[in-house]
Amino acid sequence: MLKLTRFLKPFQMPIILVLILVLAQSLSELYLPTLMADIVDKGVVTGDTHYIWKIGGIMLLVAAGGMICSIIASFYSSKAASGFGKLLRSKLFSHASNFSLHEFDQLGTASLITRTTNDITQVQQVLIMMLRMMAMAPMMCIGGIIMALSKDAKLTLVLAVSIPVLIITIVIVARMGIPLFKAMQVKLDKLNRVLRENLTGIRVIRSFNRVNHEKKRFDAANWDLTQTAIKVNKLMAIMMPIMMIVLNLTTVAIIWFGGIRIDNGHMEVGDMMAFIQYAMQIMFSFVMLSMMFVMIPRASVSAVRINEVFETIADIQDPNAPSPVTGQKGYVEFQNVTFSYPGAEMPAISNISFTMNPGEVTAIIGGTGSGKSTLINLIPRFYDVDSGKVLIDGVDVREMSQESLRSKIGFVPQQAVLFTGTITENIRYGKENATDADVEHAAKIAQATEFISNMPDGFNTLIAQGGTNVSGGQKQRLSIARALVRKPEIYIFDDSFSALDFKTDAKLRAALKDETSLATTLIVAQRVSTIMDADQIIVLDNGEVAGIGKHKELMETSGVYREIVMSQLSEEEIA
Ligand code: ADP
Ligand code: MG
Repeated sequence: MLKLTRFLKPFQMPIILVLILVLAQSLSELYLPTLMADIVDKGVVTGDTHYIWKIGGIMLLVAAGGMICSIIASFYSSKAASGFGKLLRSKLFSHASNFSLHEFDQLGTASLITRTTNDITQVQQVLIMMLRMMAMAPMMCIGGIIMALSKDAKLTLVLAVSIPVLIITIVIVARMGIPLFKAMQVKLDKLNRVLRENLTGIRVIRSFNRVNHEKKRFDAANWDLTQTAIKVNKLMAIMMPIMMIVLNLTTVAIIWFGGIRIDNGHMEVGDMMAFIQYAMQIMFSFVMLSMMFVMIPRASVSAVRINEVFETIADIQDPNAPSPVTGQKGYVEFQNVTFSYPGAEMPAISNISFTMNPGEVTAIIGGTGSGKSTLINLIPRFYDVDSGKVLIDGVDVREMSQESLRSKIGFVPQQAVLFTGTITENIRYGKENATDADVEHAAKIAQATEFISNMPDGFNTLIAQGGTNVSGGQKQRLSIARALVRKPEIYIFDDSFSALDFKTDAKLRAALKDETSLATTLIVAQRVSTIMDADQIIVLDNGEVAGIGKHKELMETSGVYREIVMSQLSEEEIA
């Protein structure tokens, strides 16, 4: 919680203003009962109407002043708190944007979303409360005690009994409530996770008839959260009547003993009425404090979760002094690269060495899980190598700025991702200042023109969220076009032709050949026909190179390659 206070700096002024206003409001509330006692003792008893009007007028003014202070204070406290929330959200978002894939794996995407939204809202709400109550509660408590003592010191003994009773109740309730509040936040996270999985996996769930199973899973998470929430609310509901009983019994006691003191001539009626109000104010300040004690642990759970994100430092940082760009273009070299995912026992790829040159096509083939995508992710430095080096244009990727590194690369990931927006916008994502002609050209090479022109608004057709209104193959072609429009030095296609039919695949590759003749091209593919004519083929097996060479050479030297080829092509095709 305290660590987050550094984000309060820009809001110093409104916060100070709120504290001053709240102080003024407390003073007015402390003054009112005294004025009332004056009216009763000096006005009503003597029948002095003029005095009643005069003091009554002052009372109205003081009350109005207090009210105005309170209104302005709540305006500024809301303003400061929502400004704080906005700042925190944008800081958290920009911090998380720098994360490498490793940190996303670590924190979890669903949790990152909850932390940016719900957790920050919790902290923000508590801030509003604290701003109002933190100044108010001690002020009313101490001020109330002083005023009560000044009215009648002996009668304050009543408070010496009721305040401890109140404190004990608060402590008991807080003890029981705080763990429940902590549990609630975790359970909310779980509910979000289940909901997210359900919504993104809806097709799978329906097709496998698992709707009921998922319903039960959601109900369980929902029930769990509800039960905890009910427990918390029951506890809070019990607290209120107990407080009221204590408060009312205190009033009765004050009237009882006050009555005796008035009878004996030690006290006046107005003073006793004022005393009752001071007693109420003191006790309410304890109620306020107790509410803070309940809210703070809840928000501090959220604050810890927010801090966790801030304290996660991205693995991959730009070097302090990035290497200057060399004149070379499109040279990629792997030197004895080994990489393992965090927590994995075995390296995902080991001892990989090869070079790629401009104008050449390099293909990677290998079974699923052989480390093809892993190898490719090392080129744009999505992960850092454990040992060895990845050099681009003669410079280690760790010595370049991520921006200049990635500007050299046109990357088509295995999972085609489109953004909400028009088709043109999606293709232009590759290069912001691409002209319409560039976009259309890229679409043509990617064999996307035909299906785009069949769509209702052509290039201006909106892609639905998650790209649900285009097929898998269409998605792949759009994400290929996005890479093409960039005209990079290095093209990387991670299994990007898998959803295309043979004819489109062949046409696309023929068109690509002309387009990328000067660039370095790296293609991961499952189909031998896609990669047969590559300049070099790298065969991966279990994260290790099982052979490098042209199709013909590999057919003779690599058993793994021969096996893959045999499983796909007929005898004549191989020859
Ligand atoms: P391919 O693309 O050849 O099918 P991958 O490179 O995706 O294979 O995966 C290689 C190995 O690395 C697999 O054994 C897989 O389980 C593991 N792996 C892939 N991604 C991750 C990840 N994010 N975290 C941990 N292990 C992973
Ligand atoms: Mg893969």
